[in-house]
Amino acid sequence: MQVFDRVNEDAYEQVVFCHDRGTGLRAIIAIHSTRLGPSLGGTRFFPYTSEDEALEDVLRLAKGMTYKAAAAGLDLGGGKAVILGDPQRQKTEALLRAYARFVDSLGGRYITAEDVGTTQPDMDIIKRETRHVTGVSPSLGGSGDPSAATAYGVLHAMKAVAVHLWGSSDLGGRHVVVSGVGKVGQALVRHLVEERADITVSDISESAVQRAAGDFAAAVVAPEKAHAVACDIYSPCAMGRALNPRTIPELRCAAVVGAANNQLDDPSCPELLDQAEVLYAPDYVVNAGGIINIAEELKGYNRQRAYGRIRGIFATTTLVLQAAAAEGIPTVVAADRLAERRIEQLSAVQLIRTPLGPT
Ligand code: NAD
Repeated sequence: MQVFDRVNEDAYEQVVFCHDRGTGLRAIIAIHSTRLGPSLGGTRFFPYTSEDEALEDVLRLAKGMTYKAAAAGLDLGGGKAVILGDPQRQKTEALLRAYARFVDSLGGRYITAEDVGTTQPDMDIIKRETRHVTGVSPSLGGSGDPSAATAYGVLHAMKAVAVHLWGSSDLGGRHVVVSGVGKVGQALVRHLVEERADITVSDISESAVQRAAGDFAAAVVAPEKAHAVACDIYSPCAMGRALNPRTIPELRCAAVVGAANNQLDDPSCPELLDQAEVLYAPDYVVNAGGIINIAEELKGYNRQRAYGRIRGIFATTTLVLQAAAAEGIPTVVAADRLAERRIEQLSAVQLIRTPLGPT
């Protein structure tokens, strides 16, 4: 890969290659934008098959964080980090602390959090070397696992979709299919039970399905058939790319509102969703509850204030759906424009800001 050409393509501010001979650390930190504030994004620890693959992943994810934070109305930019390696075999305290010193060396331009392959205890270790980390344990002043906050945000996105489609935020009696009942999916099902929705769940893990079906009396469908169940809302809460040219024509839902990142497989998907007459609530708007929650740590975590802000996902989702309808554009384009407009409007006043902003 021609690194500088690629970095220039999407206007990344800084890409840092971190190497520590003693611990074997090989990591890349990508800062896409600090125009709205310090960049925030998780650290992914993953056995990439090549350095190019790792670099492309961190660049793509960092840019995604810029849009997610901007659309959520946060005073944060977008960044992400990857550690190359197998977390099962290579994750040690020494390696994490070496990595944390690189994060610290950026002086707050990049703030980290957990992601695939890293955990809350890992963030606690990182905290010993730098204050530029979120998602640490409540005993260290953190907000803990963001999954419950993410699920709470998804619920409010569903309510916004319900108002848009059916004129009421009441989900009682609506049939919702939750595909993937892990940390977020399970918490979402709990909310939907309280809303008196009819729920169908699916998961590749038998124990996850049993837990959801047993605890909440949900119906069960095989994972490969979940997207094709006739329902009001299909909620992908497992891995990315649930919506692709094969699955979209088989959808029998009115709307897709889920927590999974990167739900659309390729650029043809918005058009296919339109043809299928399925309303798509953009993933990064819907699943912003987690980042809104950890961002509150930067001010001193207060759960009530954080959850109040997460409820704002209702308004953001509404804004995106209305703009898409009014302008005749896909909802993903409306969400991107919302984020870009906010960055554009605010970047002028951010020019002389110190990396950590107001104290
Ligand atoms: P998790 O690993 O706890 O749960 C994922 C679940 O999906 C697991 O139970 C797994 O068995 C299941 N699964 C995997 N492949 C599947 C398939 N093909 N069909 C059905 N089920 C399948 O992860 P999580 O933290 O609940 O996150 C779920 C999704 O939401 C991910 O895409 C994640 O990136 C995204 N997300 C999570 C958060 C958060 O706060 N945890 C925030 C934003 C976005």
